[in-house]
Amino acid sequence: MTGLESPVALLEAWRGVTVPLREEMRAYETWFAEEGIAASADVDRQGTPGLRMHDRFGRPEDRVLYGPVYRRMLERGYATGIVARAVDEQALLPGYQLGYVTSFFDPGLYCPYTVSLGTVLALYKYGTPALVQRFLPALTRRDAGVWQGATWMTEAGGGSDLGHQVRTTARCEGDRWYLTGDKYFCSNVDAELAVVAARPSGAASGVRGLALFLVPRWREDGGLNYRIVRLKDKIATRSVPTGEVRFADSEAWLLGREETGIYQIMEVLNASRVANSIGAVALIQRALAEASSFARGREVFGRPLAQQPLFRRQFAEWQEELRGGFALAWEAADQLEQVWRQEPPYSAAYHRFRLLAHLAKFRTAEQAVAAAQWAMEAHGGAGVLYEYPPERLLREAMILGIWEGTPHRQILDGVEVMARNRAHEALFAHLGEPEGADALRARIEVLLAASADEREAGAEALFRELASWVGGVLTRLRLPRGESGTQ
Ligand SMILES: Cc1cc2nc3c(=O)[nH]c(=O)nc-3n(C[C@H](O)[C@H](O)[C@H](O)COP(=O)(O)OP(=O)(O)OC[C@H]3O[C@@H](n4cnc5c(N)ncnc54)[C@H](O)[C@@H]3O)c2cc1C
Repeated sequence: MTGLESPVALLEAWRGVTVPLREEMRAYETWFAEEGIAASADVDRQGTPGLRMHDRFGRPEDRVLYGPVYRRMLERGYATGIVARAVDEQALLPGYQLGYVTSFFDPGLYCPYTVSLGTVLALYKYGTPALVQRFLPALTRRDAGVWQGATWMTEAGGGSDLGHQVRTTARCEGDRWYLTGDKYFCSNVDAELAVVAARPSGAASGVRGLALFLVPRWREDGGLNYRIVRLKDKIATRSVPTGEVRFADSEAWLLGREETGIYQIMEVLNASRVANSIGAVALIQRALAEASSFARGREVFGRPLAQQPLFRRQFAEWQEELRGGFALAWEAADQLEQVWRQEPPYSAAYHRFRLLAHLAKFRTAEQAVAAAQWAMEAHGGAGVLYEYPPERLLREAMILGIWEGTPHRQILDGVEVMARNRAHEALFAHLGEPEGADALRARIEVLLAASADEREAGAEALFRELASWVGGVLTRLRLPRGESGTQ
């Protein structure tokens, strides 16, 4: 058995990793195996940290009260350059590869790095030179002084329908903006900077009237710029604090232009959907590694579970699923690497990437839940016990489908990019028009020709099939044959 126990080994076997990064990744993996995994279990077990809203003199403070190991664990990731490399190397793939390692050990911990990356990209692309100079150096540090980012869009009325549910307003005075409103799901809630969706006064209704703002945690006068109202008690992802935030005339800067705000918001989401897909695949690998390790040690009916024909068959099928998810998620990352510098109006390659990102987010999140559940079943009763990994893996997997846009959103947005931008045509061409493309194309055209309601109601089965088919095609095109690295 080689490969499954090590995220770096699998990446090396299936994609290859360039030399300086490989050493960094191996060291990071070794740290996790020796120290980080215990710290991560500790953080999960401690549950939601406390929130101290005032210091002992009664001054507003909003400090998240982490246990002693959390910051050390968090800083270890920043030290690898998981966020900084995007700017230092002008490349997103190194950070995604480090994210794969992170998520193998702790899927929730990948969130702070992902939302920090989203903040960095939005600032880097759309901030004025003065803003970039002021904030980017702190966000791209690799030591304990690093500033973190956050991406806050969702409000209490709902996250899927941002156009109607974002009630946070923004008013302008000179070159400065002031935000007022509540955000309901704010991960990395004590980050030093956040990118926030809000509606400028007088802007159009719907998504077209939304703009993206950079909001620092502290005002220019040193006071808190907004309040953390509470922390959420979640089933998992306890390695990132998620809270509710209240803005009241909070100082902000506009990123980019008001008219293109929704595109900038979508760019932030696209980068994190790719991260979500990569994190989901790492979780699938981990689930299979845990199932395999248990099955080799557990004796049933006179031989190890791993040698029972039914188990062997299931395991082989799961390895194929892993290959499909891996190929799909990394294709989305590779495509993003090609297009992330683009601004609206986007090219056909950008729309093709968007379709891939929706397919990957949808499929890998679904696979992650099923894989974690299978790993739990494979462990029998031990699978549901708090003290062994499958129980946590299943809890972590459940969140991957919901944040960064639910499965419904991935399906409907995926259908939209096919209808508006013919992204499926670009994808089929990119894949070399493989066998099966014509049949799928014909069914997609029937779907797109249907009424809006029929199209939405009928989209799921076809979208699922498309995701699975694209994963299969990419497995054949991109992954080494015969030598899976997981036998
Ligand atoms: C742990 C955690 C951390 C989070 N962190 C952040 C964060 O940092 N920043 C942030 O902005 N958000 C964050 N979120 C919010 C997340 O993005 C939203 O929960 C998600 O987008 C769904 O929004 P909602 O919960 O309001 O559900 P709703 O939008 O109300 O949706 C409810 C249900 O309706 C379905 N639905 C919606 N529209 C349709 C349709 N047209 N057809 C069929 N079904 C539909 C949805 O798929 C869902 O199943 C976080 C969520 C969680 C769980």
